[in-house]
Formats: sequence, structure tokens, C-alpha cells
Amino acid sequence: MNFNRELANIVVYEAGKPIELLVREFGIDPNHIIKLASNENPYGCSPKASAAIEENIKKVSLYPDDSMFELKAGLAQKYALKSENIIIGSGSDQIIEFCLHAKCNQKSSVLMAKTTFAMYEIYAKQVGAKIIKTPSHSHNISEFIQLYKLHLPEVVFLCVPNNPLGECLDKNQVYEFISQTSPDTLVVIDGAYQEFAQAKDKNKAINPAEILEKFKNVIYLGTFSKAYGLGGMRVGYGLASDEIIKILHKIRPPFNIGILSLEAAISALKDEEFVKNSVHATLKEMQKYEDFAKKNAIDFIPSWTNFITFILNDNFSSTQLCDWLLQKGVIIRNLKSYGMNAVRITIGKPDQNHRVFELIEEFLDHRRSQH
Ligand SMILES: *Cc1c(COP(=O)(O)O)cnc(C)c1O
Repeated sequence: MNFNRELANIVVYEAGKPIELLVREFGIDPNHIIKLASNENPYGCSPKASAAIEENIKKVSLYPDDSMFELKAGLAQKYALKSENIIIGSGSDQIIEFCLHAKCNQKSSVLMAKTTFAMYEIYAKQVGAKIIKTPSHSHNISEFIQLYKLHLPEVVFLCVPNNPLGECLDKNQVYEFISQTSPDTLVVIDGAYQEFAQAKDKNKAINPAEILEKFKNVIYLGTFSKAYGLGGMRVGYGLASDEIIKILHKIRPPFNIGILSLEAAISALKDEEFVKNSVHATLKEMQKYEDFAKKNAIDFIPSWTNFITFILNDNFSSTQLCDWLLQKGVIIRNLKSYGMNAVRITIGKPDQNHRVFELIEEFLDHRRSQH
């Protein structure tokens, strides 16, 4: 059968391995499995969010409020914006998809960092756009400016901070770049990990209201999947000018998030304390990962997120390390598919992190004894 030819160039997105896989393949007790592969919140979600899910369970026969009035009102208040500046997606992933459908066709190009969120490229290829990547793995603003001027892409992705590497542009660098773009270029600022970056360093904090005031060609993306701990509910949002949001609504399917997801997100917004505490705990544990890496002479990329990327030397491969941990019930992310001998580890709870350190040390000892 013939399919859309654009799909031939797409490699299926490899999601973090689920706990169920280890239960099936290695017979490991699910309670002993540590999943640090998808940057989820190890502390779960706000009790207010889980209570909202339980309270609304009887409503699942009804479609949700498609205007998402209350969630938009909550976000409007949080960000000092109007509901007309907000669109809700099934994860911020879906907003990325809307943006590319809204701006691109087969003559378009899309600019991004060489090593960044894989879905930018996948959705861009679905609409037939040409992908332009910076030579550097991580975000380098002068490379972005140079390639922007050369190709005049329809869409540019800035992942601030960047997944899977963890580095983060300063707010000033983001502004410097946007100020050089044409009003017809859509600049997507993906703030999936902004809660962590802001807590660590004020220079990295992006204020969506300020950015929308200054620039009309920007959309800011946020998600409930990371710091808010609602990855399983699939809720994200885009913040932009009324004009951009109106267009994106032409692409949004009706009822694109479920009623329980909607209620969970509304309640999660009322518990900023939960977010603050888990971000704080994560930053504290991050320090242990840095100390561990230094002690064991492992290179790492300083991170403004809830994960850390270890760059491995030539003595062993990321696949060997990931497989070793997998057999012991710990799931981390192999970055081999990005062309790097590196792994990405989500910062877990203290006992989980302790176990990771133990196992990696065992692995390193084991390797040394073989040489
Ligand atoms: C996790 C993530 C998202 C979106 O996640 P959703 O669960 O779809 O909201 C977007 N961008 C980056 C960089 C991410 O890491």
C-alpha cells in the first residue's frame, strides 16, 4: 500500500520503557522497579489532583467542558493573561503538532537544536517540512541566528531548558533571538521544565505575559506532566496572542482532553505548594548526582531540569550501562539514538537515587575487574 511519502523518513518515537516491560521480561516485582526514564515527578501528584480524579469518576459518561473554561481561568490567573491567550492540549505535545500544522507545508522549514525534544522533528516531518538543525548538540544562540537568517524557517523551537541535555538559555538570549525574527516566524518556547529552571536561576525564568507583550510571534508551551506530576493525565497548554490561539483552535479536535484530566489539572493549579516542594527536593537530589559524577569521573551536563545527562567515555557504551541497570530493575534513558554515548537519568526520590549510585558503582567495578 502507498502511504504519505513524508512518513517514510520518520523514525517512531521511542517512549521511556514502562515498568510493565521489566515485570514481563525479567520477572521483577513491580514494587521494586525504579523508573527514571521519562522525567516524571517521583513524588506523584498533588493530593488535591488525585482527590479531584476520585470525585469526578462518576462523570466519565459525559464529555468534558470543551471550552475548558475553568482550567483556562486558572491558567489565566497564574500567568496574568486572558483565556483568549490559552489553548489546552493532550499534553503540550499536541500543541507542538497544532503549531506545525498551522504554519507549515511541504515548502516550509523548521529550525531546532541538534539534540532536542524528538517530537519537534517528528511532527515537522509529518507536514513535510524540512528540518534544519544547529551544528552544536545544545542550544547555541549565534548558530540559531545564523541559520535563521540563512533559511528563514516558518517555525523555530527553543527548548528552555532543553530535553534531553538539560542546558538552558538565559532569558536575555531568548529575547535576543526573537528580536531578530520576522513577525511571520512562529517561535515556540517549550517551557516543559521551566518550574525547575526558575527555582534554580532567575536568569533562566521566562515570563510568558512579558514575552507576549513584547513579541507577537511567540507561543509558550507548558505542561502538567513534569513538575505537576500528571504525566498520565496528558494535559499541556500553549500561551500566545489571540490571533495565534484562534488559528490553533481550527486544528484542535473537540474534547481533546478527558474529563478526569481536566479536573486533575484544575485542582493541581490550586496546589503550588506541592510543585514548590517537589522542585525543591529535586534540586537537592540533583546535587547528589553531580557529586556522584565527579567522584566517579563521569562527565555530566549541568542541568536546569529534573534530569541529568551523563556523558560516558569510550570504556563502555550507554547501552551496556542501561542494560545492566535494566536487569536490576532500574530504567533510565539511553541517548544512543541521538548519536551520543550518554544516558539521561530522571532525578528520583532519595532512596531511588541511592540505589542508582550503588548500581552504577557496581557496574564500574565490574568493568574495571574485566580489564
Ligand atoms: C515532556 C515534554 C513535553 C511534553 O510533554 P506532554 O506530556 O506532552 O505535555 C514537551 N516538551 C518537552 C521538552 C518535554 O520534555
